[in-house]
Amino acid sequence: MPRLGHTITSPCQPSLAAAAGYPPVVADATRRGADPVPVASLQMIDLHTHSTVSDGSDPPARIPELAAEAGCSAVALTDHDSLAGIAPARLRAGELGITLVPGCEVSCLPVGSGGLHVLIYFVDDAGSELGVELGRLRVDRRERNLALAERLADLGMPITYDQVVAAAGGEEGVGRPHFAEVLVAVGAADSIDDAFERYLANGRPGYVPKGRLDGAEVARLARASGGVAVLAHPYSTGLVGAELAQLVGRLAGAGFGGLEAMYGRYSPRQRQELGNLARRFDLVVTGGSDHHGLSKPDLTVGTGRGDLKVPDSVLARLEERRPGA
Ligand code: AMP
Ligand code: FE
Ligand code: FE
Ligand code: ZN
Repeated sequence: MPRLGHTITSPCQPSLAAAAGYPPVVADATRRGADPVPVASLQMIDLHTHSTVSDGSDPPARIPELAAEAGCSAVALTDHDSLAGIAPARLRAGELGITLVPGCEVSCLPVGSGGLHVLIYFVDDAGSELGVELGRLRVDRRERNLALAERLADLGMPITYDQVVAAAGGEEGVGRPHFAEVLVAVGAADSIDDAFERYLANGRPGYVPKGRLDGAEVARLARASGGVAVLAHPYSTGLVGAELAQLVGRLAGAGFGGLEAMYGRYSPRQRQELGNLARRFDLVVTGGSDHHGLSKPDLTVGTGRGDLKVPDSVLARLEERRPGA
């Protein structure tokens, strides 16, 4: 994988510097010809995006285009349970001169009242231990989807599995957002969020669980495959305060490398709280938009809701957590 450069050409350099806690660096033409001075790298990145390989609406090759347009120097593609988008996304990223970080996202057994999602970075080999497990998770996903279609039919919803597959553009990568899309299309819900609130979310009548692994097992698989596990959007667990701290401590002990504190939908205060939690357990403070395209139209690659600025130093720190690094 290409290592990060240290160019400081980003148009959003001063505000990024502030966000990253660095003093602003002003380009100084008089320094031309002088020895290069090491400076903190100030480009922005996005470590959490989805494509049509899972429940996003943009094809994998479009993700690096959106990242480059936003001014990112690197972007991770983190589709649910699949590495299939990495090759096309990497090819396009190379053409655009930005770094594609291979990734994926795995849903674990629920903790608290919510879900535990784990982002895994730096694994692109479908034959790795993680890659093989992802294949099993895709089988689980298909079975869950068939059961979910049946459950919704039992609840009187006028939708079929085939309609959901059509909405997803194929059977691979079907997820609850595709069910939500069809529920909206048939008038059973007002919006994607409403469909989750009424039927699909954990605890609602249409919820069919899917997770099989726990966080520790995912971290083990990630490390055995040369990758790094990161706790995604930690508040989705439904835990806060001491209970969340206990979970994070357990995951850190199990080999997690980072915690997604700079998340597209979190407030500055939440990001700060999670950043403190990460530092307490020596985890890298990571971040990303969780861009999905149409099903989460408020989340844009790179900038999230407009206020996200993840510095590329995060990627360098995450690389240091790779096994054997
Ligand atoms: P699945 O992996 O098929 O169970 O679907 C999980 C995905 O559904 C998440 O990654 C989100 O994209 C989406 N999702 C989960 N909960 C909600 C919610 N309450 N509102 C909207 N989207 C959600
Ligand atoms: Fe998703
Ligand atoms: Fe997630
Ligand atoms: Zn995600």
